[in-house]
Amino acid sequence: MDHNEIYDITVIGGGTTGLFAAYYATMRGMKVKLIEAQAHLGGKVKQFFPEKKIYDIGGFPAITGEALVNQSIEQAQRHHPPLLTNQWVKQIRWEDGCYHLITSQEQVHATKTVLLATGSGTFHVNMPEEWERLPRIEAATDLMGQTSYQGRNVIISTNNKTGLNWALYLEKSAASVTIINPVDRFQQAKEEDIRQLEASTIQVFYQAEITQLSSEENPLAAITIHDQTGTKQQISGDYLLVYHGLKLQATPFEEWEITTDKGRIPVDGDMATNREGIFAAGDAVQYLGKTNLVAPGYTEAITAVNKAHKWLAPSVTEQLYSTVLYR
Ligand SMILES: Cc1cc2nc3c(=O)[nH]c(=O)nc-3n(C[C@H](O)[C@H](O)[C@H](O)COP(=O)(O)OP(=O)(O)OC[C@H]3O[C@@H](n4cnc5c(N)ncnc54)[C@H](O)[C@@H]3O)c2cc1C
Repeated sequence: MDHNEIYDITVIGGGTTGLFAAYYATMRGMKVKLIEAQAHLGGKVKQFFPEKKIYDIGGFPAITGEALVNQSIEQAQRHHPPLLTNQWVKQIRWEDGCYHLITSQEQVHATKTVLLATGSGTFHVNMPEEWERLPRIEAATDLMGQTSYQGRNVIISTNNKTGLNWALYLEKSAASVTIINPVDRFQQAKEEDIRQLEASTIQVFYQAEITQLSSEENPLAAITIHDQTGTKQQISGDYLLVYHGLKLQATPFEEWEITTDKGRIPVDGDMATNREGIFAAGDAVQYLGKTNLVAPGYTEAITAVNKAHKWLAPSVTEQLYSTVLYR
């Protein structure tokens, strides 16, 4: 891909809103690029609840977060736009008649319009400090690819209710689930979760630290732990999952000279920001009656793309039916 190529629209953010916006803009015949900071697409749905069922999206009586993310990616890929990952957009500059998006890798992406589908930013996984000393090994930080855990021995390193919930969820299908918790309780866990834990087959090591990872073939063979008394123990396992909380890196709207109100971008019905040619949708925006849910992100994305298209080419028809377009 030539980074000097000028795109019609660049979507910043590969959550459910950005993925749908990227698809919809290609459906409208626009030249589209999507840029996502994380190594994976799917935004908050991927990071916070891939294993949970979502019941409030029209047309889906129930769909897991994982299935929704996978289907959103498949839809976005229909017309093969570049979907870039591992690219944090740090600067937006107007130069020579178009926007230049500069990423933390110092790549420059030229685009005529921009769609901010950034939510509030990107969530980084906290890793325990002592992990710096351990060999690099693949450890999942969310529950995507759940079927891979069926009948396997799963170790979860966590100090948090999310990791505990993963354990309770995986206990139903995994051969065994072991939790290594560096402290003596699970932060934010509900009494009901603890009751379920106590009634389960999940083995928990409290105040224990992982001091060694052994890997024969990827991903894992065993871990060694030390408890607070210094006792050493080896535990074999096929997969290691890690959840020690997430930390938000806020999208730098201020540096981009995008007006915000309490961290969100105020928009009217046209999804336009204060900067000409820059539109926004999804959890990033705020308007009277806004709900922070997956579904409204889709209609906001449609409006934002159509308005960006019209801004670029005033003669285009603002709204078209896919049933007519693909005939
Ligand atoms: C625990 C929890 C449960 C939920 N349950 C439901 C539910 O049951 N039903 C429902 O409809 N909604 C639910 N939601 C809300 C739903 O997750 C959000 O409304 C939806 O995910 C918003 O999608 P988005 O694409 O707008 O933003 P996000 O998913 O936040 O995606 C934004 C993306 O932009 C990227 N990004 C940000 N800044 C940059 C940058 N500078 N450069 C590059 N990339 C950047 C981020 O990495 C991220 O991937 C829930 C949310 C949470 C936290």
